[in-house]
Amino acid sequence: MSNVFLNINNLKASVNDKEILKGINLEIKPGEIHVIMGTNGAGKSTLASVIMGNPKYEVTEGSIVFNDQNLLDMKVDERARAGVFLAMQYPSELSGVSNVQFLKSAINSKREKDNQIKLLDFYRLFKEKSAEMKISEDYSNRYVNEGYSGGEKKKNEIFQMLMLEPKLIMLDEIDSGLDIDAIKTVGENVTKYFNNHTNDTSVLIITHYPRILEYVKPDYVHVLHNGKIIKTGNYELALKLENEGYDWIIEK
Ligand code: ADP
Ligand code: MG
Repeated sequence: MSNVFLNINNLKASVNDKEILKGINLEIKPGEIHVIMGTNGAGKSTLASVIMGNPKYEVTEGSIVFNDQNLLDMKVDERARAGVFLAMQYPSELSGVSNVQFLKSAINSKREKDNQIKLLDFYRLFKEKSAEMKISEDYSNRYVNEGYSGGEKKKNEIFQMLMLEPKLIMLDEIDSGLDIDAIKTVGENVTKYFNNHTNDTSVLIITHYPRILEYVKPDYVHVLHNGKIIKTGNYELALKLENEGYDWIIEK
């Protein structure tokens, strides 16, 4: 494996012909935790969506290489199979698809045809991970995210992450809408998963608040503004932004 896990080079992307990302450069090595902060509308969710391959966004320039694969050549399901995972800011509801159906087919789509997960193993995993996420077992038959509270949807995203075992974990405002106990559950489970997979896993957290970073300790904190990364620091930068806002960085 190359030393750089995710390499984003001069990435520009548009939605409805409006340029949102204006030349993003970002390198993430295996075992690193990066944070992206920035004002509303800066392009944070756009960046995560473009890495995941949401076809709504048009990439007009630049490259995204992950684990020696050119992501821009791959569809969203191929990226998922390659280990790219996005916990969305606004998780969608999948009416008519139960959590079991969804997760079983997602897991099996990453496995060979002759090596599909055994039902017993699947349910053992489901039980174990839902307990870790403090999710009630009736989730198994409920439709994905349908009728869930905002916080339950966020916890379900992390539950899916634990089940799918991704390599590039992107968490888009996973902490918004979560109560304090749920932030702890989410943060501790992400860190536990990460600590068990540091050789081939990286994390990209989009957040407005340092609280989640008390549980998931970042190596780098980037500020995204107007489609560009305008500052990079460490955890201290997140604290400074919490106290002082963005005015001191953003040139007028
Ligand atoms: P952030 O996550 O940093 O708050 P987003 O990436 O969600 O910001 O959005 C970046 C910008 O893109 C915003 O100004 C938003 O209004 C704009 N945008 C998103 N979707 C569309 C769209 N379909 N058409 C036009 N502009 C859009
Ligand atoms: Mg956003």
